[in-house]
Amino acid sequence: MAAKNQCISCGAEAEYSFRALEVQTLPLREMTGERKVQALGRFTESAVCRDCARKQLSDKLNIARTVRRDVLIYGGILLAGILVAFIFLERVRVIGLVGFAAIVCGGLGIYQAFGNAIRHKKEAEALPEAEALAEAAWEVFLKKAPAKSGESDLTYIPINRKTLAMKNGDLMIAYDLVPELAIKAWDLIHDSKPKKPEALPEKQV
Ligand SMILES: [Zn+2]
Repeated sequence: MAAKNQCISCGAEAEYSFRALEVQTLPLREMTGERKVQALGRFTESAVCRDCARKQLSDKLNIARTVRRDVLIYGGILLAGILVAFIFLERVRVIGLVGFAAIVCGGLGIYQAFGNAIRHKKEAEALPEAEALAEAAWEVFLKKAPAKSGESDLTYIPINRKTLAMKNGDLMIAYDLVPELAIKAWDLIHDSKPKKPEALPEKQV
């Protein structure tokens, strides 16, 4: 991982710096359904440069680029479904029906990809540019930060004005935490608050 004031993505001098709390989630499949075991990891510090934040923001504003990957995947499923349905429906009805299921799955996937892309674009456009860039910088961090620790999935709670103002119930919902962990996370986040915020050398996002 890059040094504290270097961009996590390209290594250039960073503009946005983050402090975040790691959350480790291990999904367990049991007879009674799915359960997750969660633990709080360590605090991590990282930074992102202005160029990478700007690129992420312009990508987000470009719907064609955002949906390209999903359209390829779900388009493939859709086409395979059409092919299978066409070939097998008359001969082996069950396989033909699987083809129809793939058509529905592919179609829904494409619809959802466009829906999400349009929603993210609108959200980004509604923010003042400085805030949209700060948010884009956080997204660059999320893309580059480790996503796994052993079997567990890693997610991150940013420590900033917004999360410091949240109650533990808000943290629980926003970061998908189990209730006990939301309480623990709240305590940790509030203990980690710098004693003298004015003495911070870098802009906190
Ligand atoms: Zn960069």
